[in-house]
Amino acid sequence: MSGTSHDGYAPRAGVLDEQTWPAMRDGAWSVAMLPFGATEPHNTHLPYGTDTIMAREVAARVAAACAAQGVPVVALPAVPFGVNTTQLDLRFTINMMPSTQLALLRDVVHSLEPHGVRALVLLNAHGGNELRALVRELQPSTPIILAIVNWWQAGDHGVFAEAGDHAGELETAAILHVAPQLVVPDRATWGDGHAKASVFDGVRGGWAWVPRRWTQVTADTGVGDPRAATAEKGAAFVAQAVERIAGFCVQLADADPHAMWV
Ligand SMILES: [Zn+2]
Repeated sequence: MSGTSHDGYAPRAGVLDEQTWPAMRDGAWSVAMLPFGATEPHNTHLPYGTDTIMAREVAARVAAACAAQGVPVVALPAVPFGVNTTQLDLRFTINMMPSTQLALLRDVVHSLEPHGVRALVLLNAHGGNELRALVRELQPSTPIILAIVNWWQAGDHGVFAEAGDHAGELETAAILHVAPQLVVPDRATWGDGHAKASVFDGVRGGWAWVPRRWTQVTADTGVGDPRAATAEKGAAFVAQAVERIAGFCVQLADADPHAMWV
């Protein structure tokens, strides 16, 4: 028993929002993660901040997993807004244009450059955040290796009956695991996440694409049926995703930007 006023002091390893300057000032932090979320409705049972919560939490767990392997990885504060140009008619959806994301990312990257960061992982939780174009534009102007991870693609979807796309089984299970107090408890009120099919043959065939006007596609804002979700599935999936992403970060910590292909 310490008996000090510091009982309960528990900043998480590498989580910048929670750390002090002395904790971050020394040593090598060669890998950083920038969580990308969104602010948008998630069916009738998950919070607006679902994507931001997941990006932030996965980043924190990845940082902890890397620290346990002796590799310091810093989880930067999460970007709470994403690209939501097709949901603007849904109340309090907050859109951030891709061009704004590019400006934001450029400033973050340049802020990291003087401090020994060799790789930055954009840890994305929102499908509308198509970050590759940003990376393609920025990479020639920075020595930092820029990488993208869509966290929901890092685990094995076989754990789910149907992972779903937006507020479906995967996302619902994940939030049931990390923030169950934010999930509407009465499952009878959850929307079924039914999404209408496109009128275009090419779009249905997967080789043509048009933006989905959300309110035309789905009645409850969800895409994918959430009702088979459980906290146990969420725990299994998140754990696998965290382990894989941590492995990627550990590799990045030693990566030679001039020899990344064999
Ligand atoms: Zn989401």
